[in-house]
Amino acid sequence: MTYQLTCPCGQTFVESSEDELVEHVEAHLSSVHGRAYPRAAILTMATVVPD
Ligand SMILES: [Zn+2]
Repeated sequence: MTYQLTCPCGQTFVESSEDELVEHVEAHLSSVHGRAYPRAAILTMATVVPD
């Protein structure tokens, strides 16, 4: 499985696990946007691509 998420600012994340995606997106949102979203919200925005 591949987990993808494109931030509204254009930054795209492509990760191999939910945990990595959430970790990297949380870090991006915090450092770039000064925002925090719950894990569930991040996963709702993510696209899961089957292998
Ligand atoms: Zn962003």
